[in-house]
Amino acid sequence: MKTDVFISGGGVGGLTLALKLVQRGVDVVVAERLTNKTPVYKGELLQPKSMQIFDRLGLFDAIHSSANEIKVLDMLELSSSLKVRDQSYMDYSVLPGKYDAAYMIHHEELKKVLRDAAAEYGNFHYYSGTACKGFTEKAAILQKGDDKFEVEADYFIGAEGRTSVTRKDMGIEVKQTLYNHHFLTVTFPRAETFKDGKIISTYNRFLGLFPLPDQQVRSVYLIPEGDYQELKKKPISHFHKLYTDLAPAVDGYVQQLKDWKKIQLMIPVMYHAPSYVKGNKVIIGDAAHAVHPMAGEGMNMAIQDADVLGELLADMLEQGDASDDNLTWYEKVRYRRAEHVIQLSHLAALAYSFPFKTVSYFRQKTFERMEEDSVLHFKQMLNVSGLGMWKENFRDRIIQGGFMPVRTTDLKPDMKELKYYTKNDDYPWKVEGLK
Ligand SMILES: Cc1cc2nc3c(=O)[nH]c(=O)nc-3n(C[C@H](O)[C@H](O)[C@H](O)COP(=O)(O)OP(=O)(O)OC[C@H]3O[C@@H](n4cnc5c(N)ncnc54)[C@H](O)[C@@H]3O)c2cc1C
Repeated sequence: MKTDVFISGGGVGGLTLALKLVQRGVDVVVAERLTNKTPVYKGELLQPKSMQIFDRLGLFDAIHSSANEIKVLDMLELSSSLKVRDQSYMDYSVLPGKYDAAYMIHHEELKKVLRDAAAEYGNFHYYSGTACKGFTEKAAILQKGDDKFEVEADYFIGAEGRTSVTRKDMGIEVKQTLYNHHFLTVTFPRAETFKDGKIISTYNRFLGLFPLPDQQVRSVYLIPEGDYQELKKKPISHFHKLYTDLAPAVDGYVQQLKDWKKIQLMIPVMYHAPSYVKGNKVIIGDAAHAVHPMAGEGMNMAIQDADVLGELLADMLEQGDASDDNLTWYEKVRYRRAEHVIQLSHLAALAYSFPFKTVSYFRQKTFERMEEDSVLHFKQMLNVSGLGMWKENFRDRIIQGGFMPVRTTDLKPDMKELKYYTKNDDYPWKVEGLK
């Protein structure tokens, strides 16, 4: 079999890339080793840049109607006696334009939307229950049951997530950073009126609640590393109480979880591959980088990788004789952005990694200042959104530390939009030219 682009892995990254390519007339084979839905919880929060990408792919309405829109993340810091000590907000509506919210969507529902949209094109070939086992010089070696076959392609993309066969074949090694904490994660019913995200913490506890559609809520609860086995021996009522202590709003709902079976352990890791490209092979998404889930970025990074690489591959194939060296455009655009998001997520993780009252006090002050200072608030939301990048400077840190007064003058929307990535920033080879 022969195709233009072979994609190993039909996760969100692989499917976004496939859709982008088939819409441009490129022939694509996707091999996905699973036949059914993934049994583990994965990313479900779509940041604004991902919505912009899906809008350009004609999927804004389909995703919007299957998702719960989140405009505001409430950040509640509780005292030791579990009274609200401080409340601040991360408000997406400080972002001007159409993409001024995040969206919670069931992971498998998003994959279905992408797969169905791609399946409308005759040049999309999806092989489920088919694992990529490795590569010959010219082809990917696939296995479905006992059958082995090969797919030749101009380009081979590793979108297999953390354990990437393609990354291994490229000889790229990643060095993982682990954290001193893990998470319990589970989805359960919620009240109809509970629609904004909530992050609730005390000096030594953390609960994140992210409302999904269908009156469900996805939750993450921080536990010290190694506590999971002991916790699971306790009655489920112990788990319910961990949640209702911090979030009375889930009382009457979390109790609908009757045993520990649905509650999964999530182990955060961080890594960034030293490069994404070798010859005609490229890695995207979790194959290339993993981030601590605190900032809700993992899935978005995969989507953003797919967008840039998809545009580049389609342009290269359209040109016919473009050199493989052009693939480094993808790395040039995405590497710096991914590194910034990895560091942002890492900092957010550190803010909750140390169970001390002084850390909790400084965290609360930092969030308060971020909300009060218009520039800091915009920078934070912009950097999280993926729509642009505006790094914090020394003055920002001084303000955040409370050593200078906050800025009260609001930035004008057109000034804010100057910080957004333009199409030329996303796809610079269109201006500078392919080799
Ligand atoms: C257990 C877990 C929990 C997570 N929870 C969160 C969270 O709560 N919030 C958050 O923001 N992010 C979370 N993430 C991260 C987020 O889900 C990922 O960043 C995102 O899914 C990455 O997309 P991807 O397409 O790169 O990889 P994946 O979503 O991992 O998709 C890879 C696909 O490739 C397939 N595959 C693997 N190997 C092969 C092979 N050899 N041949 C063929 N197919 C193959 C897999 O079956 C899978 O379908 C989680 C990740 C994991 C692993």
